[in-house]
Amino acid sequence: MIKKPSFQCNFAHLKTSFYSKISPSPVKSPSLIKVNNTLANFLQISPEWLNSEEGLSVLSGNLVLANSTPVAAVYAGHQFGQWNPQLGDGRAVLLGEVTAQDGQLYDIQLKGSGVTPYSRRGDGRSPLGPVLREYIVSEAMAQLNIPTTRSLMAVATGEAVQREKILPGAILTRVAKSHIRIGSFQFFAAQKESQALKELADFVIVRHYPDLKKSPDPYLALFQAILERQAQLIAQWQLVGFIHGVMNTDNMLVSGETIDYGPCAFMDAYDVEACFSSIDYYGRYKYSSQPEIALWNLSCLAQTFVPLLNDSDELSLNKLHEALDSFNEHYDYHYFFGLHQKLGLAEMTEQSHRLIEELLALMAEHKTDFSLTFRHLTDVLAEICMIENHQAVAYRLPSAFSVWIVQWQAFIKAQNLSAEHAYKTMLSVNPAFIPRNHLIEEAIVEATEHNNYQPFHQLVSVLSNPYQFSVENSRYAQAPNTEQLVLHTFCGT
Ligand code: AMP
Ligand code: MG
Repeated sequence: MIKKPSFQCNFAHLKTSFYSKISPSPVKSPSLIKVNNTLANFLQISPEWLNSEEGLSVLSGNLVLANSTPVAAVYAGHQFGQWNPQLGDGRAVLLGEVTAQDGQLYDIQLKGSGVTPYSRRGDGRSPLGPVLREYIVSEAMAQLNIPTTRSLMAVATGEAVQREKILPGAILTRVAKSHIRIGSFQFFAAQKESQALKELADFVIVRHYPDLKKSPDPYLALFQAILERQAQLIAQWQLVGFIHGVMNTDNMLVSGETIDYGPCAFMDAYDVEACFSSIDYYGRYKYSSQPEIALWNLSCLAQTFVPLLNDSDELSLNKLHEALDSFNEHYDYHYFFGLHQKLGLAEMTEQSHRLIEELLALMAEHKTDFSLTFRHLTDVLAEICMIENHQAVAYRLPSAFSVWIVQWQAFIKAQNLSAEHAYKTMLSVNPAFIPRNHLIEEAIVEATEHNNYQPFHQLVSVLSNPYQFSVENSRYAQAPNTEQLVLHTFCGT
C-alpha cells in the first residue's frame, strides 16, 4: 500500500500565533534530485509516493495536501551577538508533522519554498548548492549518530535564483523533531507574552521531554534538560571536528538537534582556531569557542524562562544561574568520555586525561588530520590485535607520536578490557569518512555547473557508512592536498 504523509498539524493548531499561515509558492518545472528512501520508510511515507508525480508536486510546493496546514514560524534571535527582535522562516514552510516508526512526531518542512511574511528582503528561495550541501552534511551527521535535522528529499525547481550570479534553484525537505529554537522563546519573551511562553514551553515538554510533566518545577527541569542536551550535542560536534559556523540563538533547537547547515565545515588538520565561515570576521564561532557560545546562547534562553518559574524573579534567576553553572561539567563529561572512547580507553582517570591532552597537543603542533589521526590509531590497534579483514586508511603520523603511542598501548593493556574490545569501540566512533569541504565543493560544482549529479550521489552513498572503510573509496577518506583545500565556506542563501 502506498503511504502518503499522514500530516498532523499540532504546531499550526496552537492557540497563540507562533506562525503565519502561508502556502508554498509554486515552481515552474520541478524535478527530482534525490529521495532518502531509508528516512522515508522510517517516517512511514512510501518512497514510491515521493517518487510519484503527486509526491514531487507536494515536496516542490506545487500542491498542498488536504491534511496539511502550511505555516512559517516567527522567532527572534541574537545574530553574531546582535539582538534582532523579528526573524522567522523567511524561506521555509512547515507542512505538518508525521508519526514515525519510533512513535514520535517529526516536522516536515520545505526550505526554499518562496516568500513568507518573514522574508524581509529575501526571495524565499534557495540555490541548488546550499540544498546539496545541507543534504550531504545533515545526512552525514545522522550517520555519525549526532542529533540533527534530516534531509528527506531534494528537488530542482527549474527556476533560476539571482545571487552574485544566476544559479539554479532547489528545495530541500527538512525533517526535525521540531523547529522550536531558543529564538522562538526570545521572540515571545521580548513581547512580554508570558501566556505564549507557557504554551510554547508546554508544547516542548509534551513533544520532547514528556517525563518532565511530573516534575515539581517542570519549567526549571525543562531548562536543565535543554541545557544538558545542548552540552552533549556540542561535545559530539567537537569529537568529530564539526564547526557549525552560525551558532546564532535562532539556529539552536531546544530539541537538541543540529540545525542550519550554512557555512559549517568539518576540520581537516586539527586546529582549535579553525573557522571557515566567510561572514565570521572575528572568529566568534570558531571550533574552540563552540562550548562557550552554547552557554552564552543558553543564558539568553534562561532570561526567557524567568517568568515561567513559580518564584520571585530574583529566586528564579538564582535557580537558572545554578543550572547554567552546571553546563561545563556536563560538557566536559561528554567531551572527555568521547575522547576516551576514541582511544579505546574505558576508565577516566587523571592519567588518562593527561594522555589525551598530550595527544591533542601533538596533533596541534604537527597539524595532523583530526579524523585520520584517530582512524590511524584504530588501524594501529587492529594490527596489534591481528584483526582479519581490517582495511587500514593510508595515513601516517609523524615519528614524534611514537613515544605517545607506546604509552597509549600501555594504558590499553592496563585496563580490564581486552585490546579487541578497545578496537571495537574505536572502530565504532572514529569515522574514516567525513563530509570534507573539498568533496562537498566538488559535488556542488559538478551539479551546478555541469548538471552532473554523480559526485553528489556517490558522496552521499560513501558517507552513509562512515565507519566502514574500503580501499575502493580511499579518495573519500583522504585529507585534501594543498590545491584542494577549501578555506572559506559561505551560507549562499
Ligand atoms: P540563517 O542565516 O540561515 O539562519 O537565516 C537567517 C534568517 O534569514 C532566517 O530568518 C531566514 O529565514 C532568513 N533568510 C535566509 N535566506 C533567505 C532568503 N533567501 N529569503 C528569505 N529569507 C531568508
Ligand atoms: Mg537559520
